[in-house]
Amino acid sequence: MLIVMEQQATQEEIAAVVAAVENRGYQARPIPGGERTSIGVLQNKGAVDASLFAGLAGVKDVIPVTRPYKLVSREFKQEDTVIRVGDMRVGDGTLTIIAGPCAIENESQALKTARHVRQAGAHMFRGGAFKPRTSPYSFQGLGKEGLEILNRVRSETGMPVVTEAVDEGTFDLVEAYADIVQIGTRNMQNFSLLKRAGKSEKPVMLKRGRAAIIDEWLMAAEYILEDGNEQVILCERGVRTFVYHSRNTLDLSAVPFVRKESHLPIIIDPSHAAGRRDQVIPLSRASVAVEADGIMVEVHHQPDLTLSDGAQSLYPEQFESLCREVRAIHESLFPETAVAATG
Ligand code: PEP
Ligand code: MN
Repeated sequence: MLIVMEQQATQEEIAAVVAAVENRGYQARPIPGGERTSIGVLQNKGAVDASLFAGLAGVKDVIPVTRPYKLVSREFKQEDTVIRVGDMRVGDGTLTIIAGPCAIENESQALKTARHVRQAGAHMFRGGAFKPRTSPYSFQGLGKEGLEILNRVRSETGMPVVTEAVDEGTFDLVEAYADIVQIGTRNMQNFSLLKRAGKSEKPVMLKRGRAAIIDEWLMAAEYILEDGNEQVILCERGVRTFVYHSRNTLDLSAVPFVRKESHLPIIIDPSHAAGRRDQVIPLSRASVAVEADGIMVEVHHQPDLTLSDGAQSLYPEQFESLCREVRAIHESLFPETAVAATG
């Protein structure tokens, strides 16, 4: 349930409504908005009696929430959530481009790739230090050494870094180095990891599970918000279907649907959706056209020698043209934010 306060409601009236909700044994979550404050009623097992709160001073409306998710829903919060990472913003209408290798392999690979992507116009750098691999025999990442390399990339290029936490045991370590902590597709419903991410001060990028419907994905995000971290970026990365012309099927319609249902920013990872580089540029163009808040793309300075996901990693020149193309699409569709997006 959502209690919508009058525009001119005082802080005392808001506090009194919060106390009334808590006195009934529920949890109250005030959500300050541009014009008015709303108060979410959480931890209710069944329907809540609206008349308990409708008559309190300063209350404009009491609205039952019809979705299984609450904190992530637009019913709860109308304004778009904007995630701040240093000087950058994700979700404010600008286009965020995140690029880098699948995995950090060594310092030279990371720095060379980072210089290329920075030059081409990437805003943030990606690279896994802990890799969730399908096979136990595949390269598992450099661990802490990879995180140290990410630190050097950040200090040399100024780009914030996105890197994955694969389990609770290494979350503290990853969190200490990352500007955005990624939770991968295989962990979308790792609830203890989601709860740990909910206690983090860092923004979290939550990838869609490879077989998850959108309700399940949003419920996973709900875990993170419920534990106190409201800085969540959703990342669509394709879902498993029966086709074999691409590794996964990019669900473009997820973007308009999620935008309607949720206030959280959504970006697209065309690389893990496609699994092959010839599809990455077309899917990136489509991602921008469908109004994703950003894209995250795998790029390697020598894709033929990479230790993971070489087939989908772009060559630096390809990434350069991708950046030119997606910026042009973004500028033509959303001219009012284009300056910020390229600045
Ligand atoms: C990744 O981005 O490094 C990754 C492993 O992606 P996903 O979890 O989407 O497979
Ligand atoms: Mn990869």
